[in-house]
Amino acid sequence: MKKIVEMKLEVNFPEGRASANEIFAAVNLVMQSIYEQLTRVVIESYQEQIVEVLCTASGLKAKQGLGLHEDKRHAGRRCRGRSFKRAGYWSEERRLRGERGEVWFRPAMVECTRCGKRLTPVLEALELEKRQTHTEVLLNKVIEAIADTSYQRGVDQLSVLGEAPVAKSTAHRWAASVELPVKEVGEGDLLGADGTGFKKQAGQKGEVRLVLKIGAQGRVAPVGVWTGASWEQIAAEVAGVQQGQARLFLSDGERGLEDWLGRLCARSQRGHWHAAREVGYALWEDKMPYEQRRQWRKQVGDLLALEIPAEDIEWVSQREKEHLRYRIAQAEKQLEQLSEEFASRGYAKASTYLRRARDHLFNHLRLWLETGIIAPRTTSIIENLIRELVRRLKKIGWNWSDEGALRMGRIVMIRRYDPQGWRRYWDERINLRGRCKISLLSCQLENAA
Ligand SMILES: [Zn+2]
Repeated sequence: MKKIVEMKLEVNFPEGRASANEIFAAVNLVMQSIYEQLTRVVIESYQEQIVEVLCTASGLKAKQGLGLHEDKRHAGRRCRGRSFKRAGYWSEERRLRGERGEVWFRPAMVECTRCGKRLTPVLEALELEKRQTHTEVLLNKVIEAIADTSYQRGVDQLSVLGEAPVAKSTAHRWAASVELPVKEVGEGDLLGADGTGFKKQAGQKGEVRLVLKIGAQGRVAPVGVWTGASWEQIAAEVAGVQQGQARLFLSDGERGLEDWLGRLCARSQRGHWHAAREVGYALWEDKMPYEQRRQWRKQVGDLLALEIPAEDIEWVSQREKEHLRYRIAQAEKQLEQLSEEFASRGYAKASTYLRRARDHLFNHLRLWLETGIIAPRTTSIIENLIRELVRRLKKIGWNWSDEGALRMGRIVMIRRYDPQGWRRYWDERINLRGRCKISLLSCQLENAA
């Protein structure tokens, strides 16, 4: 259905002269009113069309799911009435905010001729949620501004939206409504996980945990962020989105973490820095004197210091590979001996730690020997990520709750590390299909009286 919109603009040069700058500035200024007025007129004409269709006896097909409602006389039952009559307008105007401005319009009501129920069809026809006061495009802009923290400290409005500023508190409320999905884990990916504490409201401590994957060419992609969930729950959720088995699990060797998430992967790899530190810690618990402890810790560190050759795997000779395999086996044997030595001297905790850790320390090298894939030797990449995440969350200054931290965490992670996933999510939500077309027919000058 076509409509024609007519607009009249007055152009005036009160002093007879104006600069190019002034002309462009004046056009910019009037664009804002054109934007808002035109949007209002278009919405109103669309609404008129919808109401007209619903209140016409024929044309069931044109109604296409519009006007479905619960029977007013039987709660919970759908009314079969498909004919309506006009029932006036809301007494208040409805506000709708877009990316460059806002409109106010008066929603029309229709009444079912079968059960008497009153509906406001335009909201459904505009594909708006019941209490939605903004477009998805605006929501997208605001959330991106928050995630990028592209507003200045102390400024309580988002300045990226020059024409339609959104209060920071409003923006945060909107952000808390956005739930980004947990990402699929593909076969062959490396999986990493870590957690850290954060301050919640009222001085409580919370824990934010994240799982990420490292795919082809070392591309990092967040799998998900959790708060107030155990590693067991997280592992169950990750298992649900896992396509095939990940190759290697990277962690600092925290027990619950490795127990639960490690099983999702073919192998697990502990950070070497952590392993050496943990040995030192276990020896301290075993009450070994400081100087001795320092020496042992260094020895463990040296044993772990096997490097992947700098060349691409195609350039590494079979003999070099054999040699590396030999050195891995040697290092593991020495760790075993060390573990036995600790046991015989009564350092039980350190002995147990080494025995358990032994099988998880050189898996990155084995993976490389088999596939040429270079996995990070330490878990520092994951630690850096979580540190950056927390820094951003702090900068946003969110009034933390578990729920808020979780949603913001996902927003920040995906925005930062998965730009494609981010775009895909918003493209789906915004869902532009070109179902409204407006073209400028004429722009002619006539002299005013
Ligand atoms: Zn009805």
